[in-house]
Amino acid sequence: MHEMSIALAIVDQVESAARPAGATTVSGVRLQVGELAGVVPDALAFSFELACAGTVLEGAELMTERVSARARCGACADTWPVGMPPQLSCPGCGGARAELLSGRELQIVSVCWHDVPVHAPIHQER
Ligand SMILES: [Zn+2]
Repeated sequence: MHEMSIALAIVDQVESAARPAGATTVSGVRLQVGELAGVVPDALAFSFELACAGTVLEGAELMTERVSARARCGACADTWPVGMPPQLSCPGCGGARAELLSGRELQIVSVCWHDVPVHAPIHQER
C-alpha cells in the first residue's frame, strides 16, 4: 500500500529528528498533504498508527492539513484552483503552459514532543 510506505518514511524522519533531541515521546505530527499528492488521508492515518507501534511515536496523533492545488498560466499569468479532476489549461486564455504552484505537498510541518511544539527541520519533497 502506497500510504504505508509514506507512513514508514514519516516515522523514520521523525524518529531520526527526535532521538538526537532526547525526545522519548512524540505526541503529534502535523503534515501538509497536497490535493494532488495522491494520498488518501484515512488510509494514511491507519498506516501511520501501525507504523508508529513500538517506536517513540507510539500513540502519536497525525494531523493532516489539506493544501489545495493552484496553477498559473505561462501565457497570461492568470491563476486558478486546479480542482478534481485537475484542470491544467488556462480558464482565461485557454493556454496549455500551466505551472503548478501548489498541490503536491507531502511534508512534515511540525512535530510535538514533551508537549512542546518544535519546528521540524525536515522535509519530504513530493
Ligand atoms: Zn492564460
